[in-house]
Amino acid sequence: MNTIVVCVKQVPATNDVKIDPVTKNLVRESVEGIMNPYDKNAVEEAVRIKERTGCNVIALSMGPPQYKESLREAIAMGCDDAILLSSRALGGADTLATAYTLSKGIEKIGGADLILFGRHAVDADTGQVGPITAEFLGLPQATFVTRLELEDDGWLTADRLSPAGAETVRVKLPAVVTVTGEINTPRYAVPIRIMKAARRDILVYNEQDLGCDPERIGIKGSRTVVTSVFTPPKPDRGTVMIEGSAEEAARRVAGILSDAGVL
Ligand SMILES: Cc1cc2nc3c(=O)[nH]c(=O)nc-3n(C[C@H](O)[C@H](O)[C@H](O)COP(=O)(O)OP(=O)(O)OC[C@H]3O[C@@H](n4cnc5c(N)ncnc54)[C@H](O)[C@@H]3O)c2cc1C
Repeated sequence: MNTIVVCVKQVPATNDVKIDPVTKNLVRESVEGIMNPYDKNAVEEAVRIKERTGCNVIALSMGPPQYKESLREAIAMGCDDAILLSSRALGGADTLATAYTLSKGIEKIGGADLILFGRHAVDADTGQVGPITAEFLGLPQATFVTRLELEDDGWLTADRLSPAGAETVRVKLPAVVTVTGEINTPRYAVPIRIMKAARRDILVYNEQDLGCDPERIGIKGSRTVVTSVFTPPKPDRGTVMIEGSAEEAARRVAGILSDAGVL
């Protein structure tokens, strides 16, 4: 094992997010962000493998400049380096364009033996980016992994959640793995590492650095369009507020249940 790339997305720290009325994208600028929780599991797993094998771990993200905060957190947790893929042209990407850009970033790094993702990002929640990136790179993948074990012969064994329950698969490296929250408990970065990470420069690549096809990035390269975003109306469950004393309320409840044929 020489290199692990771990893909990290920054998500809003709050549910009180705003949607751009024109693009229907989340307004990510000026929103306080945190590292996507499942990506912390991915970083933790990468760092544990590094501690066993001495490999190099690179955190990779695509997004606006403030995503550097999550990349610095990844460094504080133990990643060796971090790279941000960022430019106006990359903005507004759907999962296809995001995965294409990340795959170009991974190629730019020179590939990796293992590429780790979270099972899904808790804001847009599709769970598609890891699997699509694997397709772009032509690599095997194991998704929803709860335990992984590297073998001596260049394969890895992974326990994964499946609709049928749980299953164990073997995957030949290099491979893509998406991890669940069960795989580990992410460490807290110690203050000295947080301070050191805060001073680290983060390398930024744009679409030209990556040699991206301009038709396949950002809004231009996105095949899905969010046409509207709305909060679904709450279903009317026939809730009745009963007022009065406990005795009156009990009588009313008994009457309602009797009318409904329950009593
Ligand atoms: C309201 C709304 C609805 C949307 N609906 C759709 C839709 O239906 N179809 C669609 O294609 N897009 C949609 N999008 C766009 C979607 O937000 C982006 O495609 C997004 O950047 C990636 O999708 P995801 O968050 O679902 O990632 P997921 O696929 O859930 O993320 C899985 C993992 O991939 C990695 N990852 C994801 N994004 C990045 C990144 N930028 N940098 C590094 N690693 C990353 C992380 O490890 C993460 O844990 C929608 C956006 C909004 C705001």
